[in-house]
Amino acid sequence: MPHIARQEDCQTCFMCELYCREDAIYVAPDCENATPVDKDEILASGLLGEFRRNHGWDEWAHDPRYTNEHWRMESVFLRARDMAIAEAAGNA
Ligand code: SF4
Repeated sequence: MPHIARQEDCQTCFMCELYCREDAIYVAPDCENATPVDKDEILASGLLGEFRRNHGWDEWAHDPRYTNEHWRMESVFLRARDMAIAEAAGNA
């Protein structure tokens, strides 16, 4: 079973979940705190694949119920970039 190697460095960007066509990855949405995850609960919840589906990727691309609105993440990515720049400059 795979494990995230540096969970403390995860930016909660959901990219791994979005790109995984096997729906094998779940990213808990709390960016500030690590969330314990129970495999059986996640499997039973139907959450696996939800992020990819809700963004209209892959097999969901032609389903009008799921439009690709991943562009909404832009502000999150810009904030992460600014934080990384500030940290690199010693201003964090
Ligand atoms: S959510 Fe983003 S930062 Fe976290 S493991 Fe997945 S791809 Fe990496």
